[in-house]
Amino acid sequence: MAKMWIAGEWQDSASGDTYDVINPATGELVESAPKGTREDARRAIDAAEAALGAMAESTAEQRGQWLDKMIELVQAHKPELARTLTMEQGKPVGEAANEIDHFLHGLHFYAGLASKVRGSYVPLPAKGTYGMVMKQPIGVCGGIVPWNFPITLMGTKVGPAIAAGNTIVVKPASTTPLTTLKICALLSEAGLPKGAINCITGPGGVVGEELVENPKVRRIAFTGESATGRHIGEVCGRMLKRVTLELGGSDPMIVCDDADLDRAASMASVGRYYNNGQACLAVKRLFVFDSVFEAFMDKLAPRVKRLKPADPLKPDTRTGPMHNRTQRDEIQAQVEDALGRGAQAVVGGQRLEGGDFARGNWFAPTLLTSVPDDARIVVEESFGPALPVFRVKDLDEAIEKANHTEYGLGSSIWTRNLSHAYKAADKIQAGNVWINSLHYGYDEMPFGGVKASGIGREHGPEALEYYFETKGVVIAVS
Ligand code: NAP
Repeated sequence: MAKMWIAGEWQDSASGDTYDVINPATGELVESAPKGTREDARRAIDAAEAALGAMAESTAEQRGQWLDKMIELVQAHKPELARTLTMEQGKPVGEAANEIDHFLHGLHFYAGLASKVRGSYVPLPAKGTYGMVMKQPIGVCGGIVPWNFPITLMGTKVGPAIAAGNTIVVKPASTTPLTTLKICALLSEAGLPKGAINCITGPGGVVGEELVENPKVRRIAFTGESATGRHIGEVCGRMLKRVTLELGGSDPMIVCDDADLDRAASMASVGRYYNNGQACLAVKRLFVFDSVFEAFMDKLAPRVKRLKPADPLKPDTRTGPMHNRTQRDEIQAQVEDALGRGAQAVVGGQRLEGGDFARGNWFAPTLLTSVPDDARIVVEESFGPALPVFRVKDLDEAIEKANHTEYGLGSSIWTRNLSHAYKAADKIQAGNVWINSLHYGYDEMPFGGVKASGIGREHGPEALEYYFETKGVVIAVS
């Protein structure tokens, strides 16, 4: 049975309660985990607070070295960690290994940045007086993480938190705690103070809520659904607590008539069906210029047909099960709603059952056309392997439709026309625009949303800023 990682030790919940972590491919038990309580969360928060003094003694260079050491420690266990991630999350084991690599690359980025942080010197109008702007750690941080990329999204919080000299309590999604617990314990072996990194498991409404409400936690980094984010934002507002919210998306991709159609079709396929479409920055609405619509679909449809869901533990599997039954039922309902309103399923359109799919949560990779603008799959966030493709007459119509959503996370345009590319970058309401490029969260680039997709940024030096307090110091020299 898994245990929580608190104050540098494996610990059970004080209640003794546990819950089962289920394999999405087979419906079988992977392992049970502690069903944490508010008291457990407070224990972890207290441990993180107690470690602040020792963290304050560390130099920025030392924190960079700890992060480098963490990379070595995790790297040495990568195959078994990838396997555990596949068993609890459902993603193919190759994708699980990629996710761990991306996580390590993120730590590497902040390892390098830790000692490069600068404050400033400010000349002041009063004679003999000058100002200094200091960057200081905030204190205890809470990192609340969803199930779709549990490791990279934990890293986007732990990396900058530690680089800046904070301590952190991580709360993974209830359905994906196992790899996170193992990794948090490995990270803690890098030499940092006991209690600097903690991991608690259990219901979001209990242990997550305690992290958000506890006044000792000075900053919350949340990734998850917009509805949960709204609630967390409200509580943090009331508590005057720093918060960043990385929320849902409905990313548009625009294919113009001068695009490299082969490359665009390939990236649309990866962009929608990677991790079975369960990605915040997945391509969720595809707008193709009328004049190249048929030619583009002739390239995209065969790619989607080639995606064959199979056992995610097999090394050559590219598409696994969906993460849970609720997600599977949700995408099925969205697809059925579209079909019921006159959409056509060019590929797939139904869940997979019987034989190899008798257990677990399976859905056929699906490509839809003739989808009405008010269909659920267009209006809501769709979190599964189904892609609606729309005809548009020109770029203005594509941008107008792209912006017709409450979300604003990622977006892309495929064109060789610089004016088109610039116009899309300028006019699309989103935190990120990719031009002739896959929707991908680079560690070096700020990533985040506008509108209902969130507040604040992760990745890049920009994210590190959110882990510092800025202090103004005025010095008068007599
Ligand atoms: P979720 O239901 O909002 O859960 C996210 C995390 O919040 C989980 O750890 C959950 O714990 C916890 N939580 C739930 N209620 C809470 C509360 N009242 N207080 C504190 N914590 C609480 O989201 P999800 O279904 O796991 O993730 C999918 C969503 O994440 C999608 O909308 C996706 O677009 C979004 N996402 C966004 C980004 C981005 O960077 N913008 C990246 C990835 C995913 P439990 O699991 O125990 O409920």
